[in-house]
Order: sequence, then structure tokens, then C-alpha cells
Amino acid sequence: MKYLLKNGRVWSKGKGVKHDLYIEGDRIVARFGESEADRVIDAQGLDIFPGFVDLHCHLREPGFSAKETVKTGTKAAAKGGFTTVLAMPNTKPVLDSVWEMENFLRYLEDQAIIRVLPVAPLTKGRLGREIADLASLSTLGIRFASDDGNDLQSASLMKNVLAYASDHNYTVLSHAEESSLAKGYFHAGCLTRDYGIPGIPSSSESVAVSRNMLLAKEVGAKIHFCHLSARESVHLIKLGKELGINLTAEVTPHHLFYADSDVRPFDTTYKVNPPLREIEDRNSLREALKSGLIDVVATDHAPHTQKEKEQSISEAPFGISSIEIAASIVHTIYLDPKIIYARFCEGPYRILGEENDLLENQKADVTVFDSQRKVVVNRENWVSLGKNNPYFGQNLQGKVLLTIKGGQIVYEHS
Ligand SMILES: [Zn+2]
Repeated sequence: MKYLLKNGRVWSKGKGVKHDLYIEGDRIVARFGESEADRVIDAQGLDIFPGFVDLHCHLREPGFSAKETVKTGTKAAAKGGFTTVLAMPNTKPVLDSVWEMENFLRYLEDQAIIRVLPVAPLTKGRLGREIADLASLSTLGIRFASDDGNDLQSASLMKNVLAYASDHNYTVLSHAEESSLAKGYFHAGCLTRDYGIPGIPSSSESVAVSRNMLLAKEVGAKIHFCHLSARESVHLIKLGKELGINLTAEVTPHHLFYADSDVRPFDTTYKVNPPLREIEDRNSLREALKSGLIDVVATDHAPHTQKEKEQSISEAPFGISSIEIAASIVHTIYLDPKIIYARFCEGPYRILGEENDLLENQKADVTVFDSQRKVVVNRENWVSLGKNNPYFGQNLQGKVLLTIKGGQIVYEHS
């Protein structure tokens, strides 16, 4: 197929420039005659970005297909403008052997409508005891490893894992959490005090950020911090970068958008780990994302069934499902397409070690975004199986209109 995207603002090499974009087969090409196009798309007034990358999502397969499947999860991701996602390994079984991972890669080829890069577990079965066989898994092209959902509670094991992962060219995705401090359901603050709900203090995260980054420094490993939530962690990331530690960091749309003052007590849709913290934390995260201290937005898309989320605040699982509106949430905060480009495209592609600058000959992974369009988040057209989303009814600005993966339209707003 030949697509001509006319008159859009094409984002490449750090800036958006108005010009036409030509796609032929799975590549971006220099040009062709307008009459040769199978379809001409009017992109006047729209931003054309390299396909978004989400470094952190949960597709729930194998094992939890009532929450999400590869098919529904990648469909929701495509609606959110993502053409590549990293899928976390908290599955059942945990794919920690080559034959299981090979099977899953075949399954992805069949089911995924965008590119899914599976993340290897750090430890066998994600049990936090024995290091997983990262050397063998790396032969399948796996380059990221994490025990997301848990941190390794033993510092010496963490150090060994970081050294071993680094020897095999992995980046470790760190879910930084000192579990002995994290015995609660919401952020330890006004809300938990007023309602007598057990709280999770900021130190449960910042203590672990500090430990993990110092261990990474000692063994020379590459570490990426997942879903930062606390202002102390932001200070530590700044310090780590100043010390020359090879680290990057992400923040989720919900930690940028909400604070604990927005949480309705006992409403489990707001129950997420790490928790939504104070306005000062949220503001510190917003500032750090803007300045680039935090490198990327990642969704931590964590779909659950309604039945699971309808349980009591102590029983219901942690997580928010919002991959399909991630860019709209972030754009509503900043109202600046440059932030979308920098933190959904430029930053994550750099961490992947890849380039996508919408230049001739590159793979046609493209996201078309209307930064002016106002939307109301609507349950009726929600794609993910996980309806655990506190944004329903929320007014947002900015909307992905079209997602092209390898020259094929995988989402189009109707
Ligand atoms: Zn996590």
C-alpha cells in the first residue's frame, strides 16, 4: 500500500516541520506522485510522530487472559498510538526458559498487531531467589529484564543480577520497592490517616531507588527506574545522573495527572502501586519530565477484571488500565506536542537503542495526533479488557487519530 500524509507537522530530530510524508510498503520513501497513492490522508493541523514506545505494560498472557490478552492489549496500545511495547514478565507461568519464550514469541507473531518486546524475569519464577538464565534468553534477542511487581529484597542478589544482566547486554528495569515498608493500599498521608487505611510511605520507593542505583554504579550496569512516584526519588535520580550512573527513569500518566487528594477513599480504581502521592510529588514529577530528568512516560498499563477490582480495598489488586489514552492524559497537562515527541518517542527509542526519525528508508511506524481535539474518556468505546480506569468521564485534550505499524494501519479513529 502507498499512503500519502499531506501537510502534517512531521516530528524528526527534535523538531516538528510541516511537510508531506510518503509511505510505501513498510517503509518511508522520498516521494511518489499523488495519483499513485492508494490513500491520501489530510494531516493539516495534525502532528505526525514516530510511533510511540511504551517501555512498561502488562499484556497478562500467558495466564491471565480474563484481564487482558495479547490481542486486546496490543489493540488498546495501537489506539493509544503505540507501535512498540515492552511486556512485563509477571505472567503464569513466568517465561524463564528458552523454549517457553520461543513459544511466546511465536504466539506474539500470530496475535500482536504491534511490536511486543517481552521482558525477561530477573529471577527464576520471579521468586526473588535464583537468578534466571538471562544468558540463554539473550540469544532470542531479549534485552530487558525485570521482576516487576516486586523488587529483589536481598541487596547482594540484586548486585549479582545487575552484574550478570550487564554481561549479557540487558537493561534492568527496576521496580524499586523496599517491601518491608510497603504494607498498605494508598500513599501514607492525609488520606490514610483520616480513614485509618494502611499507608505506603514514599521511603518504600526512595530507599530502594538509592540502593539499586548505587549497586548498578558499582557493577557498571544499565538500570532503568520504573514508575517513579515520590519527589525524593526525583532528587535521587538527579544525583545519580550527576554521579554518572548509567540510569534512566520513567513516570506514568497517572502519577503525573493525579495526587492523593484526588483519590476517593475506598475506591479501588485509584489503588495502584506505587500509590498516587502528594501534590508536591506530582509537581516534582511534572517538572522532572519536562526537563528530561525523567526520560520517558511509560504507562504501567495494568488491566484487571471488574470482579477483582470490586473487592475490598485490601483484597483488590493494584493497577490502572490507561494505555489507550496515555498521550491524551499527558498532553492535557503540558499542552505541548514537543513533550509528547520527547517522552513518547525520542526518549524511549534512545533507551531501546534504536532510531525512528521518520526519515527516508526507515520503517513506517507512525502516529498521527490531533493536539487540539477535546475528548471525554468514554467507557463505551474502551478497547482494553481492563476497565479499571479512573478517567471515565474526564475531559482531556489531544487524541491519537491514526497509528501505522510497519506501513499498515493498526488503528484509525472513526
Ligand atoms: Zn512495577
